[in-house]
Amino acid sequence: MVNHDHDLTARRVAQNQATFRAANEEIEAAAQAIAPELPRVPFICECAETDCTRTVRLSPSEYELIRSDPTRFVVIPGHEVCEVDGEHVARVVGREADYTIMEKVGTAGEEARQLDRRAGSDSATRPTVAEQDA
Ligand SMILES: [Zn+2]
Repeated sequence: MVNHDHDLTARRVAQNQATFRAANEEIEAAAQAIAPELPRVPFICECAETDCTRTVRLSPSEYELIRSDPTRFVVIPGHEVCEVDGEHVARVVGREADYTIMEKVGTAGEEARQLDRRAGSDSATRPTVAEQDA
């Protein structure tokens, strides 16, 4: 019963980041339309803090590369939150001077794939996640 909270936490983190991602996609689209040559565009930090308003600067193509994987996201250096409420939700996969690339793991990763699919992305279809609550 108590462990149920962990699942909710991972879901909250994934949905929070899906919201940031949606905002960042709009930023990316706007940047492409207005100034496609911009080397650095301010994207929203996609860390687990719901009230984080910091921005992370990277090129639209760099961002596109990261977000082509639904489990990957970008945060500013120092915001690498790998655990939320004691649950392992993400890991660092790459560090650049201005940003850190993270990858969701476990339930948060599965949630991210499901949210991505619901959003209509045509990224690689994966088998439906089996309920592991046996
Ligand atoms: Zn942040």
